Amino acid sequence: MSEKLAELTERQLGALRKRLAAGVEDPAMTLRGALVSDMRRCSGEGCRCRRGELHGPYTYLTVYGSGRSRMVYVPKAMAAVAAEHVEVTRRNEALLLEISQINLELLRRRALG
Ligand SMILES: [Zn+2]
Repeated sequence: MSEKLAELTERQLGALRKRLAAGVEDPAMTLRGALVSDMRRCSGEGCRCRRGELHGPYTYLTVYGSGRSRMVYVPKAMAAVAAEHVEVTRRNEALLLEISQINLELLRRRALG
């Protein structure tokens, strides 16, 4: 990416940055993490899950922060909307990363403005 950026003119970099910025979706949708589905065993002694018929799948959002991760349960009714938020966040962060690389290139050229 950065090698290709080096070949662009400042005008081209500005146009690319503008196009990328226009693609950023509503930041109010931001939900950082990764959705994972899991089968679970319960605490019931005689339950069928003890014989290998596990419960689920249950969906969790794995959230990373300050060097560790935690799992937040996602209710079934929220799974689709949570997935949409996570996907918008993934796309936005990819765009912001590209914009940052363009700005870094402009900084190298003493043309950041
Ligand atoms: Zn069970």
